[in-house]
Amino acid sequence: MLHERGHEGKAEGALLLAGAEVYNLGMSRTEKLYYSDPSALEADASVVSIEGDPGAPVVELDRTIFYPEGGGQPCDLGTIAGASLASVEERDGRIFHRLASPLAAGAGERVRLVLDGERRRDHAEQHTGQHLLSSTLLRLFEAPTVSFHLGVERCTIDLDVPALSDDDLAEAERRIDEAIAEDYPIVVHLCPPEDPSSFPLRKKLPEGEAEIRVVEIDGLDFTPCCGTHLASTARIRHLKILGAEKYKGMSRVTFVAGGRAAAESFAASRAAREAARAFGCSPAEIAQKAARAAERLKALEQAASGLQRERAALEAELASRDPGGLPAAVVLRYADRGADAAQEAVRAFTARGAAAIAASLPELTALRPRPTPARGSGSASSPSPKPRAGRAAAGTRASGRASPTRPPSMPSSPRPGASSGRRNERRLSDDRLL
Ligand SMILES: [Zn+2]
Repeated sequence: MLHERGHEGKAEGALLLAGAEVYNLGMSRTEKLYYSDPSALEADASVVSIEGDPGAPVVELDRTIFYPEGGGQPCDLGTIAGASLASVEERDGRIFHRLASPLAAGAGERVRLVLDGERRRDHAEQHTGQHLLSSTLLRLFEAPTVSFHLGVERCTIDLDVPALSDDDLAEAERRIDEAIAEDYPIVVHLCPPEDPSSFPLRKKLPEGEAEIRVVEIDGLDFTPCCGTHLASTARIRHLKILGAEKYKGMSRVTFVAGGRAAAESFAASRAAREAARAFGCSPAEIAQKAARAAERLKALEQAASGLQRERAALEAELASRDPGGLPAAVVLRYADRGADAAQEAVRAFTARGAAAIAASLPELTALRPRPTPARGSGSASSPSPKPRAGRAAAGTRASGRASPTRPPSMPSSPRPGASSGRRNERRLSDDRLL
C-alpha cells in the first residue's frame, strides 16, 4: 500500500466487490503492467472473468495497465475494448475493473486496454511532488507526513506538527524548486530481491506485504510506496504550496504540482494583473493598495452608518410633525436602501413610539424591532438633531389613513409596543416584496 494512508481511506470503488462473489482463489495475481512498463498507454490483455451487472460489469484481466485505487491516490481510468472504466480496485494481488457500460467480449477473449494518459500523468505529478514535499518538510522542520490525499483539484498532506509558518512554507517551496531544477532521478527498488531494511526509510514498512517497492529520490528520500511516480524530479515541473492550516492538532498543507501548479500560477498571475488594473498600480503594490483600501472602506462604512442613523432620526421626526401625528404603526418599504439602513429607520420610528417594520427591496429583507423588555416600549424621544433637509420616510398608517407621500402598506402588521433593539430581519421572496 501507499506509504501514507489516505485522508479518506478507501473512497470511490470501496464497495466495488461488496456483495459480488467474484473471488476465485485458484486464480493467479494480475500482471501489473503499470509497474513493469509504466509508460505504456495501450496494451492487450485476456479477460479472466466477467461478473456482476452485465450493464456495468466487473472485469478481471490477466494483466492490466490500470493502476487501482489505493491510499491517497485515485485509480487510473481509460477503456477496455472501448468500454469506459468507472473504477479499479486491487484485492489480494488481483485487480478488478468496473466498467460503465457492457463489455463487448467474453471470458478468455483478448481485449484492447487504452489508458487515460493525462490522468495518469497528473496523478504521478501530484504523487511524486508529494514525496518531494514530505521529504523536504521532514528534513527542514522535522515534520513527518502522516497522510496524503490526492484530490480532484488540490492535494493535501497532514503533518504531525502543530503549525508551520508562511516563512517555513516559503523555505520549503524554495528547496523543492531547487530539487526540481537538479533533476534528481527517481528509482524504484523491488524488495525482494533487495532488502528494504537496507534503506533509510522515511516511513515504516507496511505489514503483511509480500512485495514492497521502495521509491528513492536520488539518495534524498526512501519511501515504501506502491503508487505511480515520475522518472525524475524535473518531471514534476513545479510545486506550489497553497497554504497550511491547523487540523486536529496537526498541520494540513495544501499543494498542487505539475500541470496543476502551472494552471494555479497562470490563474494567480491573471488575478494579480486584474487587481492591479483595478487599483491603478503595479502587481507588486497590490497588497499595500488593498490594505489602504480596506482601511478607507472601514472608515466610510462607519461614516455611512452614522449618516443612516441620522437620516432615519430626521425622517422619523418629520413624520411625527404630520398634523395627524405619528401613526401607531408604520410600514416602511425602501427600494434603494440596504438592510442596515432599513433597520436604522425601524429603530428611529420605534424610538418615537410607533410600531415599525421595514423592508429593504435591494436585499429582499424584512426588518422589525425585537422586543427588549429592559428598555420598555413606546414613547422614547428622538435623540436626533433638528432636521436640515430630506423628506419623510415612506410609510403608512396602520389605520389605513395614508399619508400622500407614503406608498401602500405591506401586508404584514407590526406588533404594537415593540421597541427598538438589535437588528431583527428575515429574508423574503421576490413575490412578497415586488
Ligand atoms: Zn509514492
